[in-house]
Amino acid sequence: MYDADYKYAIFQRDNFKCQFEGCTVCGCDNLELAHRISKGKIGQKYVKRYLLEKYTIDLSMREVFIFFINHKFNMVASCKKHNDYFNVLYNPEEANKIIDEIIKSNKRLRGE
Ligand SMILES: [Zn+2]
Repeated sequence: MYDADYKYAIFQRDNFKCQFEGCTVCGCDNLELAHRISKGKIGQKYVKRYLLEKYTIDLSMREVFIFFINHKFNMVASCKKHNDYFNVLYNPEEANKIIDEIIKSNKRLRGE
């Protein structure tokens, strides 16, 4: 699903450590990628609705997945145990912030 380089780049950004506060698990073999806005239908629909309401940007679910769900801003290095703790869907403020940051970083999405 992700190529190895992409995964490695995120691990590198996160210093090859689980990003859960206080967790000491580290090293590529012990880490996985956690999605902050979850990758399932609920997460995709959340992003789609927010983009439409705030930015009047209408993306397909596939585009939402590619441009937002799999964006590096939406991913963190995590150990197996903490993967679920990074889910921000129950914290809309945090979820919206991620979406806003992705929009800000992408001229094409801003229609420029
Ligand atoms: Zn951890």
